[in-house]
Amino acid sequence: VLIDLVDTLRCPNPHADSWFVAASDETRGRHITRGTLGCPVCHLRVPIVDGVVCFADAPPVAGVSDRSDEDIMRLAAQLHLIDAPAPILLVGDWSAYTESLLRLLPLTVVVVADAVVASAQDDRVSVLTLPGDVVPLAAGSVRAIAIDAQHATTGLLRESARVLRNVGRLVAPAACVLSETDWRELARDAHVVVAERRQSSSAPVPLRRAPASPLFSA
Ligand SMILES: [Zn+2]
Repeated sequence: VLIDLVDTLRCPNPHADSWFVAASDETRGRHITRGTLGCPVCHLRVPIVDGVVCFADAPPVAGVSDRSDEDIMRLAAQLHLIDAPAPILLVGDWSAYTESLLRLLPLTVVVVADAVVASAQDDRVSVLTLPGDVVPLAAGSVRAIAIDAQHATTGLLRESARVLRNVGRLVAPAACVLSETDWRELARDAHVVVAERRQSSSAPVPLRRAPASPLFSA
């Protein structure tokens, strides 16, 4: 896990929002490769093993998979990706897009959850496993999320709305049901639905000036 990302991680247990205290046994560059995250509220301890923050056991890794340029450009457009450092979250099968997206967007930080392919050893990638129906990230901390069929549960979609900033993008399986309260549907095809997180007046997310124009049009 990137040392910088530790500030964005949140304890998944049901208590007031809490960040973690990191103890590192081994680091490589800006990554903690072995160590522990500790919650100062409930004392949950989360191991970091081979750079992966293990909120749960890791799913099996199927090997590196390459996607066509067309697939990558489509996802980048659907996620409205500009080359900026704010993190994006790729869940499950979408982990296969990590390396190609990093080539396309050199500044972008990627958080990969429940990866199904080996993740890049890269200073822009942090890998974690999900603790059930919780995304252990701070509210409003990511700008785009791609979630696969296995993870598109009611609970994780609600969590996706929580961790996305206002008008952040979601790419989810076409079959999933999106709450009207949280999402504004923008487009869909046979495979995916693209939605925008609705503005939330309650979320304590600082307003930020949007970049003048995206690199890609949807
Ligand atoms: Zn806790």
